[in-house]
Amino acid sequence: MSVAAEVCPDKRVAIIRFSNPPVNALSKKLCTRLKEAVASAQQDASIRAILLMSGEGLPFSGGADIKEFDNPPSRDNAEVGPLSLLIEEIESATVPTVACIHKYAFGGGLEVALACHYRVSMPTALLGLPEVKLGLIPGAGGTQRLPRLVGWEAAVRMVLTGDPLPSTEAHGIGLVDAVAKGGKEAGAALQEVALTVVNDPKTGCHRRTINFPVPSNALNPLETCQTFAKKAGIKVEASDRGGEAFQGALEALAAAALPDPRRGLDLEARVFNRLLRSEQSKARRYVFFSERRVASDHHLGLRGDESLVEIRHVGVVGGGTMGAGIAIAFLDAGARVTLVEVTTEALARAHEVVQGIVASRVRRGLMSAAQAAVWASQRRFQGTLSLGDLSETDLVVEAVFEDMALKKDIFRRLDAQCRPSTILATNTSTLSIDDIAAVTRRPDRVLGMHFFSPAHMMRLVEVVRGQASSTAVVGALAAVIKRMKKVCVAVGNCDGFVGNRMLFSYQKELQLMVEEGADPYRIDKLLFDFGFPVGPFVMSDIAGLDVARRIKQQRQQRKLKESSTGRGNLSSERDSDVADKLSESSGRLGQKNGRGWYRYDPAIGKGRTPLPDPSVQTFLENFRRSKGLTPRNPPHTDKEILERSIFPLLNEGIKIIEEGIAKSGSDVDIVWIYGYGFPAWRGGPMYYAEHHVGLANLLAGLNKYAQKYPCCSHFRPAGLLQDLVRKGQGLVARL
Ligand code: NAD
Repeated sequence: MSVAAEVCPDKRVAIIRFSNPPVNALSKKLCTRLKEAVASAQQDASIRAILLMSGEGLPFSGGADIKEFDNPPSRDNAEVGPLSLLIEEIESATVPTVACIHKYAFGGGLEVALACHYRVSMPTALLGLPEVKLGLIPGAGGTQRLPRLVGWEAAVRMVLTGDPLPSTEAHGIGLVDAVAKGGKEAGAALQEVALTVVNDPKTGCHRRTINFPVPSNALNPLETCQTFAKKAGIKVEASDRGGEAFQGALEALAAAALPDPRRGLDLEARVFNRLLRSEQSKARRYVFFSERRVASDHHLGLRGDESLVEIRHVGVVGGGTMGAGIAIAFLDAGARVTLVEVTTEALARAHEVVQGIVASRVRRGLMSAAQAAVWASQRRFQGTLSLGDLSETDLVVEAVFEDMALKKDIFRRLDAQCRPSTILATNTSTLSIDDIAAVTRRPDRVLGMHFFSPAHMMRLVEVVRGQASSTAVVGALAAVIKRMKKVCVAVGNCDGFVGNRMLFSYQKELQLMVEEGADPYRIDKLLFDFGFPVGPFVMSDIAGLDVARRIKQQRQQRKLKESSTGRGNLSSERDSDVADKLSESSGRLGQKNGRGWYRYDPAIGKGRTPLPDPSVQTFLENFRRSKGLTPRNPPHTDKEILERSIFPLLNEGIKIIEEGIAKSGSDVDIVWIYGYGFPAWRGGPMYYAEHHVGLANLLAGLNKYAQKYPCCSHFRPAGLLQDLVRKGQGLVARL
């Protein structure tokens, strides 16, 4: 960490450069040193302006040091911390202060820039207030200065989405005063543009953002903020659905309209401190660090001296639901894609899907027509009927039907036709990577690359290591996943890997409860209220009841085979076939044919709104009768439904860690947050198990249900859970 002040006597400016690699985090120490530097620069009567600039190669600032958040001020009222003191010093300076923004200014970094009298930036710089993503709000004046500078609408969008703005857009709304010219060394370019700004005759030192008038509006300030949030399509969740930070942000933004800015700043600080101590923010901060930890080289086992193949040309085999989305994801990462299908019709369908998504991005302004033309041009994206056209690729991702014989055949042919360095990956949901790798002569270069549907949108990719997979190959995939702006979690090979294996336990118990008489719609409502984006039966409809049935049949066949060879035991396990019977008996496939656990009407919500279906209730009554089951009386309580849904999920996650399939609780949590919608504000299933349920309570609950349902292996507590409780140890770290 360093702060260096340099005075340019000819230009009569002081340039204060600050460095705290890697992200120039505004630690308490750095803030104190910077404040001293700003104060001392003002002592020199010859100085006409102060430029604040990051040290060479560093971003302006990634914000406050989040690790220091763990020691919040003890008083309920905000303590004035070093960041706020620095901001006061900068804003009250007697000469103009200019923030020179290189790379990015996020969170506290942007709050410092907002307190400067002027802001200039490099054309590639990003500016944002991402605090809501950590369950917080800007706590050093961001919510008070931003509306004064850019108006309510832009301020609400920035604070509530947490998404950064590119430099040019920031200039357009008045957040940045001037953008430097590209093509020059950043420091020199920023200095040049900053001097133009301070030499402008209109420029004075008393341009203090906090004293700007607040734009008036016919509505009251809170209503104004709510209206703009709605207009921007921002879903402001209720506090009990993870929305404490969103509600706090609205409250603080509205306070910017108070006549005395001090009162607004005080209120913002109080809300910030309240959120800092909240369980929701603690969980979100854990998720923030977990996401970075699981994809780090160290966590992936990379030493740093491996030579990693750069993935530039990708082959995708199978252009159905997954393949077309996977092709788009690689195009987004800047790779060239060659897609292989079996028939010209199937190829045309895949092309149509890809072009349709590009067209919709252009329509929604997410891509320019020129970008789209390059993105899906013949040079970048081609279709073929021949696997031979993949011979020169760096990576092939297979996404054909979930059929082991078909996949083995394709891998044999790929192995023969691709150059030896090509990495071969499968998007299988459940099949063994080792069995697929065994048909090739390059098992070290064979892995699972498990995307989630829709593959171009869902952020998670499970990279499944086989026994022989090389770490360098995992590293190469992790790098391309990062280019896609997705999250890579490396997992071990087992039935369903991490995500689906946990899903199987969860779904099994849900169906058993339905057999006993629980209403699927009530279960959905309870789990939606728990925080999932949709209930599990809606989710089954989206994924397709036929898909689930096929996967289940294949898994059963494999298990039967294993039990006949003495490797498994199926005989005593309790299971339900209610979902299979529902789809078999009445041709219900889910959302895709408008009939599943719910009915779907094309005229309502584009055919995606789940509507209760009385014929499902009739089916369930007949189903139970045919099995000689009578609905339980008294019915299940909410508590029992929630425990029997969530506990098997948590137990399976712990078993997965115990077996080394996942390396840590963070891996499991990231998989379930990004792949299955587990509420991030509950920290993911492992964090939830430890910090909300409590490991001892979880063990007691599992034992209670294991005793009641001895034929349900998903209630038998993981050995690791028993060990941890016995030793009084934890499963995940708080941060
Ligand atoms: P899909 O039925 O939509 O598509 C499969 C495609 O593969 C079809 O277009 C078919 O024409 C093509 N195909 C079949 N044989 C081929 C061959 N020999 N050469 C080239 N193409 C061939 O299936 P999907 O849902 O996209 O699933 C594909 C894989 O992804 C499966 O292994 C599945 O388990 C897995 N997966 C699916 C999902 C999902 O939600 N659908 C999610 C994750 C993983």
